[in-house]
Amino acid sequence: MKYEMVIGLETHVELSTDSKIFCSCGGHSSPKEPNDCVCPACSGMPGMLPIMNKKVVELAVTAGLMLNCEISRYTTFDKKNYYYPDLPCAYQITQLNHPICTNGCVTLKTSAGERDIHIKQIHMEEDAGKLVHMGKASYVDFNRTSVPLIEIVTQPDFRSAEEVLAYLNKLKTMFRSSGISECEEGAMRCDVNISVRPEGSTEFGVRTEIKNMASFEAIEKAIRYEVQRHIDAIEFETEELVQETRRFDDASGKTFAMRNKETEADYRYFPDANLMPIIIDDEWLEQIKAAKPVAIDEKADMYREAGISEKEIDMLIHNHNVSTILDEVVAMGCDAKNAAGWLLTDCVGILRKNGKLLGDLEITAKDLAAIIKMVDSGDVNRMSGRKILTAVLEEGVDPVAYCKENALDTKVDTATIESVMDRVFAENTKAIEDYKNGKVKAKQALFGACMRELKNTADTDVIRELLDEKLSKC
Ligand code: ADP
Ligand code: MG
Ligand code: ZN
Repeated sequence: MKYEMVIGLETHVELSTDSKIFCSCGGHSSPKEPNDCVCPACSGMPGMLPIMNKKVVELAVTAGLMLNCEISRYTTFDKKNYYYPDLPCAYQITQLNHPICTNGCVTLKTSAGERDIHIKQIHMEEDAGKLVHMGKASYVDFNRTSVPLIEIVTQPDFRSAEEVLAYLNKLKTMFRSSGISECEEGAMRCDVNISVRPEGSTEFGVRTEIKNMASFEAIEKAIRYEVQRHIDAIEFETEELVQETRRFDDASGKTFAMRNKETEADYRYFPDANLMPIIIDDEWLEQIKAAKPVAIDEKADMYREAGISEKEIDMLIHNHNVSTILDEVVAMGCDAKNAAGWLLTDCVGILRKNGKLLGDLEITAKDLAAIIKMVDSGDVNRMSGRKILTAVLEEGVDPVAYCKENALDTKVDTATIESVMDRVFAENTKAIEDYKNGKVKAKQALFGACMRELKNTADTDVIRELLDEKLSKC
């Protein structure tokens, strides 16, 4: 018999907020040493009260809008109770009864054509801490407790591992392009629910849930293994399938039972009376909608229209920070394609020289626009522009002041150029001889020598003109 796999995903994404969800400790990218970002509230001291981080609501709504969800105007938090050393309060604050977003849909392009994946809900919750085992000792690091998460729950709509990966990649691209999350390794974790059924059947089979997978590669392997295990169990009665939670072991490529699936009752959910219901009124929703970044597909089209190459579009879509700088520079009057070149060729080159990546880029749109405009207007030649950019990236100088201090503008007066040229001519009598004897290349050598003397600052057209004039008199 032929079987079809049925998969539903629960994806946890750490949000890129500056602070945690219920206290003012630094968010997920802040901590350096274990337990650096911890306060009495997020370490579960008695009597501490949660204070809602507004930004979390706004990012969750933004995610909902990008995934075509209905946005709840009334949303509440619940306590989910369980005991584990990485959970200092012995409950997790999450949303059960009134999640922030429901009923969404995302369209995937796969080899089987377009496929719609329905989103059951998105809810906000806090992350747990981390247990660290070293030798015989175990430690707990609370840096991650109360880092904000959104959990995106799909309907059981996936029918292949390819669809699952296409969906996760799409989420990642969307969230990175909109500043919801950088989705780096570990910041996006999936629970994969799997069942199989005979092809053509409309009933669902027994499902198992593989918990907490952070790598796409592992997800693909786990799906392959688990689907086959289900088929074998049904076809050859190798074992009885039960609804349970399993873990994937990367080394053996197999899944192992962890525990029977908990039911809702196991968690003794109850409303969190310490947090007021959040009301999202029209005005707030409109504000969030207005700030919502253009959807990635539209954004890519926009860049394409501006003549930016596919490779560059890909880099821009995956680097929210960089595409924001580009959009701002364009808004300041620079040409998009040209500015993309400055960002993705010049900046990348300078970063690379310093052992850094595009994601490390730190430049304000104002500074970059200033450099581009100096070059475009001819006040500074391309080479000097790059020199200024290097100083801005490496030393954080002000581009305009740096240009002045180092006399990099092209308005070097002709008298200076002529005196330099006199010196060059005196020192290069052979090249002048060669030129007069018909060796055209010799002129280029003279030009190069002048540029070197002038430290690449002067206007190249002016030099060429003066050079021609002077040579004609020789
Ligand atoms: P629970 O409340 O038990 O966690 P949910 O209805 O929230 O169950 O579903 C959890 C996840 O399991 C969802 O992503 C859903 O799509 C998926 N799921 C539900 N039933 C099945 C099934 N038979 N096969 C595969 N996935 C399923
Ligand atoms: Mg669930
Ligand atoms: Zn805290």
